[in-house]
Amino acid sequence: HRYSSSGLLGIQERTLVAVKPDGVQRRLVGEIIHRFEQRGFQLIGMKLVQAPKEVLSEHYHDLQEKPFYPALINYMSSGPIVAMVWEGHNVVRMSRAMVGDTNPAEARPGTIRGDLCAHISRNAIHASDSFEVAKKEISLWFSDQELIEWQSCIHSNLYNM
Ligand code: UDP
Ligand code: MG
Repeated sequence: HRYSSSGLLGIQERTLVAVKPDGVQRRLVGEIIHRFEQRGFQLIGMKLVQAPKEVLSEHYHDLQEKPFYPALINYMSSGPIVAMVWEGHNVVRMSRAMVGDTNPAEARPGTIRGDLCAHISRNAIHASDSFEVAKKEISLWFSDQELIEWQSCIHSNLYNM
């Protein structure tokens, strides 16, 4: 048997994906949503937000000591962000693979950053990097009422179960 980070394969996993201010400005929201839809992931929550400073400092608390941290917070505050929760088997790991390396110069063609971005400080998208982090980030960005449970009609075609 194979296991996902959420337990037995068959239990759905969720992750936080955010189109950052440069991605919204560059009209990449549709392209990014399209890639997640095409992969078969299910949209559970979505909103356009001007992120509060408190949310951003919690979101990036691990990076507080980094030299780029002040610029990162300014960048993330510079305009609206599209925050989303996507669900599916192995969605955390698969999303990171779709997003590509943090530095677009290292990101492989075919990935979002490898196809659409030019610089590490303007890399268009965020995706949670582990199952545990995803749980924290989803509860930081979304209330329970903003997350919608809905029945997928493509499940057996996607997962053969
Ligand atoms: N970042 C940056 N310069 C760097 C490293 C990171 O501006 O040298 C920014 C970039 O927007 C990145 C974010 O900080 O996406 C968070 O960094 P992390 O290492 O968590 O990368 P990610 O998980 O987004 O790939
Ligand atoms: Mg990260």
